[in-house]
Amino acid sequence: MKVLLATRNDAKLAELRRLVGAQGIEVVGLADVPEFPEAPETGATFEENARAKARDAAAATGLVAVADDSGLTVDALNGMPGVLSARWSGRGGARTERDAANLALVLDQMADVSEERRGAAFVCAAAAAHPDGREIVVVERWPGTLIRLPRGTNGFGYDPAFVPEGESRTAAEMAPEEKDAVSHRAQALRALLPRLTELS
Ligand code: IMP
Repeated sequence: MKVLLATRNDAKLAELRRLVGAQGIEVVGLADVPEFPEAPETGATFEENARAKARDAAAATGLVAVADDSGLTVDALNGMPGVLSARWSGRGGARTERDAANLALVLDQMADVSEERRGAAFVCAAAAAHPDGREIVVVERWPGTLIRLPRGTNGFGYDPAFVPEGESRTAAEMAPEEKDAVSHRAQALRALLPRLTELS
């Protein structure tokens, strides 16, 4: 079975390849298929965005397509930045600058929030779509808390301020393979995988 992972992120592609390697599923990326127009992420939920990306990729290529959408939800901010996580500060520019501005803004917004109300979670929706219209979607959470002063240099995005439940380190202080083993994205891809054969 051949599956298209609708992402330009090489790390996600490598992760899915590692996860499905043993199962006789061939994973190709967007660079391996003819180019098609990619719609902007305008959904109100992670689930909607992941479904739309997978559906568009399956329709354009005729392959079973997998897509994900993820972000940070903060309890004291009523679930925001949520689907707006990647562009929360409204800043353009390079990915690292946007990430730093997004993180700084969330921490400013949380400045007056007490220790016991600093709950947050990374959330990931992973969807698979068949060109015939069938779809599967799963959503997984990685709960934790937001600290006030960022720590660590691994990972990306909000990792330096996020301490996962049961951890004392931030996600940016964990080794990449440790994060890969437990993250929202790994959980969602792992939950989706055994169900991919439903679409074959
Ligand atoms: P996307 O799903 O790759 O579009 O990611 C959306 C945004 O959510 C990223 O730009 C980050 O700001 C945030 N995000 C998603 N997953 C993580 C993570 O594992 N660590 C830190 N930030 C994340």
